[in-house]
Amino acid sequence: MKLYAYRCRQCGRRTYPARLICDCCGGRDFEPEPLEGTVTLLTHTRVHCLPEGINRPYLDFGLVEFENGVRAVGQLRLQSAAWIGMKLRAGVDVVRVLRGEEKYGFVFEEDSTPSV
Ligand SMILES: [Zn+2]
Repeated sequence: MKLYAYRCRQCGRRTYPARLICDCCGGRDFEPEPLEGTVTLLTHTRVHCLPEGINRPYLDFGLVEFENGVRAVGQLRLQSAAWIGMKLRAGVDVVRVLRGEEKYGFVFEEDSTPSV
């Protein structure tokens, strides 16, 4: 399971989630690009009042930036405290079960790959 950014074939601007019309040039032709790999944490928050379908007392959410400049929000699943600027690995997983249907979204975890 992957989530995608959409790159405008006219001006190259990437958006997530998908748009019908490019907000930069008005183009309507987009090319999907998988959103994955290393991201940088821009900010984060803990939410205690969660919607239906999430059976947990709270969740941590992060706004991240992918290496291609696209920004997205997802769940943080960290072993240690979050800090702005930390590098994380983006993945996609079930983030909510709504009336028996699994909903997928971004999850961001510490990168376990040894640094060079
Ligand atoms: Zn465009």
